[in-house]
Amino acid sequence: MARSSALPVPGLRRGWWLREALAAEGTPLPAPPLTEDLAADVAIIGGGYTGMWTAWFLTETVPGIRIVLLEADICGGGPSGRNGGFVHGWWEQTPFLARQFGEQAARDMAWAADEVVDGIGQWSADHGVDGWFHKSGYLTINAFPNEPNSWTGTVAEMERMGLGEQLQPMSADDVQQRCASPVYGEGLWMPSAASIQPARLARGMRRVLLERGVRIHEHSPVFRMEPGAPCKLVTDRATVTAEQVVLAVNAWATGWPGFRTRLLAWGSYMVMTEPIPERLAEIGWTGNELLSDSRFTISYYRTTDDGRIAFGAGVGAAGFDGRIGRVFEADGNAVARVSANFRRLLPMLADVRLVDAWGGPIDITAMRFPEIGSRHGGRVHYAHGFAGNGAGPARLAGRILAVLVAGTDDPLGRLAIVNHRQRFLPPEPFRYIGARLIREALIRGDNASDAGRRAPWWVRLVARVPTWLGYRLSH
Ligand SMILES: Cc1cc2nc3c(=O)[nH]c(=O)nc-3n(C[C@H](O)[C@H](O)[C@H](O)COP(=O)(O)OP(=O)(O)OC[C@H]3O[C@@H](n4cnc5c(N)ncnc54)[C@H](O)[C@@H]3O)c2cc1C
Repeated sequence: MARSSALPVPGLRRGWWLREALAAEGTPLPAPPLTEDLAADVAIIGGGYTGMWTAWFLTETVPGIRIVLLEADICGGGPSGRNGGFVHGWWEQTPFLARQFGEQAARDMAWAADEVVDGIGQWSADHGVDGWFHKSGYLTINAFPNEPNSWTGTVAEMERMGLGEQLQPMSADDVQQRCASPVYGEGLWMPSAASIQPARLARGMRRVLLERGVRIHEHSPVFRMEPGAPCKLVTDRATVTAEQVVLAVNAWATGWPGFRTRLLAWGSYMVMTEPIPERLAEIGWTGNELLSDSRFTISYYRTTDDGRIAFGAGVGAAGFDGRIGRVFEADGNAVARVSANFRRLLPMLADVRLVDAWGGPIDITAMRFPEIGSRHGGRVHYAHGFAGNGAGPARLAGRILAVLVAGTDDPLGRLAIVNHRQRFLPPEPFRYIGARLIREALIRGDNASDAGRRAPWWVRLVARVPTWLGYRLSH
């Protein structure tokens, strides 16, 4: 069959998920730009999952609370409406968390994060949000022909902690039963994970919050925050004064004073195929399983309810000096890399057309783990740094932020992650130059492993630099 080589151009329009969700939504409830000065108990900046979950849990715990949510674009217009829809907690992070914070603290955090999967499923069912939720499990595949898998140590550690059922080794034969591809080796199965249509969840949350009386103003970017009593948020046309502020801006925090030194943004891009339900049936991929390879620049892919494959990879460029610009939305080179990974991991689908492409920023801290906490005397609260794994954990972040705002005595507010500040990253321009070099080295290293070759010495050297400097590159 002829291979379709034309690649969709990213950045010309909103991504497929959001277009589909907006079409399914019909006429949305209004959330007009902010045009008059307002006072509120809490002002939330950012209408992604983190901001919206925070609003939701606050309405649950503090009835009657006056919440204003300001979103620069539309709710779900950022990564919350563009992501892969892989929903899981922190099981694959648990051994790292145990080393970092001790075993009991790690267990507490991992179980708290585990709640997000069933929590999102149940919440969606309760509120009539058809977010294509499937508790279908997540399979990481070793697709390097000549290398041992990367998870043996993690599995042993999880078994020792009595958590072995959360990450189960899967034989190469069983992997083929889930999705048959000639390039797959053995796998690692996380049964608790679920897939969602990410933008349907985001837009459904928006509707539920508006119905609850949360004031949402879209197309209302906050240009300045003046922390104080009260705090003041300035948009181009009006201001909001609030007793407390929640900063839920994800990768945009790379440009905020106080955070920019501890975060950097990298691009992740996705492509979408035409509907191919019969081809999925041929390869046995009919259970909605989430799949990824085990590269550093991870390829992650899943099916959709209308029989397509959504396929992404963290192969975009690094951002410079906190700017979230076109490089995160319109990088044709990144799409070419994603599509090459698609053809490599699913060679039997080489003729399938890719009909859409989009990208977005993911924000990374030194330890590839989020920062959640409070500053300015407990008046400003924040959560960011999900490192491309926030679809589920943003719900936990929202629960924690609601506890911090309400000041309730809740074990969530005492999790070890809360107010744990991460290490500084090098200043610009060294951060940008370093990130670019290291990213290129890691991609080249992955490509060499794919081809069964050893990467050149300089690639191996550069790829090791972050570890020597004490930064965590992968799980
Ligand atoms: C391509 C891609 C694929 C991904 N795949 C997955 C996945 O499969 N699984 C997973 O767990 N995670 C994934 N992620 C990461 C996940 O999408 C994020 O971690 C998650 O959406 C974070 O939610 P959030 O609400 O914190 O941030 P966002 O969704 O980014 O929301 C932040 C919002 O703040 C707004 N904002 C920023 N600055 C301002 C301002 N000054 N004033 C007003 N509003 C402002 C932005 O417009 C944005 O809407 C992926 C990310 C990308 C880009």
